[in-house]
Amino acid sequence: MSLLGDYEDGNVFCQIIRHVEPCFKIYEDEATLAFLDIYPQAEGHTLVIPKNVRSRNILDISHEQLGLLTKTVQLVARAVTIGMRSDGVEVQQLNGSAAGQTVFHLHFHVIPRRHGIPVTPHGHAKRASENELRIVSARVRSGLVDVAH
Ligand code: 5GP
Repeated sequence: MSLLGDYEDGNVFCQIIRHVEPCFKIYEDEATLAFLDIYPQAEGHTLVIPKNVRSRNILDISHEQLGLLTKTVQLVARAVTIGMRSDGVEVQQLNGSAAGQTVFHLHFHVIPRRHGIPVTPHGHAKRASENELRIVSARVRSGLVDVAH
């Protein structure tokens, strides 16, 4: 997939926004949606996407929309850190297949980190069970409540 080009509607994040595909939702507002990655590189791995813009990557989004998106990235990074009691948090964002991007709807990865524990490399994680995702989503959402207060 080339870095530049037209946005294509068939991607899975577009289907999640349209409620065609399910997700374990962490947070949603007018402009953005955050939900668990079903192939988590670490427990609590969350994805943050814009809802109303047809952006493939960070190169083709307006400053205004990127600002709204990164505001949610920060909120989710705080929630993940609190909810998963992590020592650190990694924010990752890939653009174009050469950089490892596999879903061509702009997104940020928010991945909790612990001292001495490596994350599963991108593209090598196993699919989490529904039960695991349900438990983790409750933990991250509980962190979100703490951020808000
Ligand atoms: P990218 O490789 O484009 O940076 O990241 C795409 C991410 O989407 C990967 O981490 C992958 O595990 C995740 N992913 C792929 N398909 C699905 C899906 O159907 N649902 C969710 N929640 N995540 C997905």
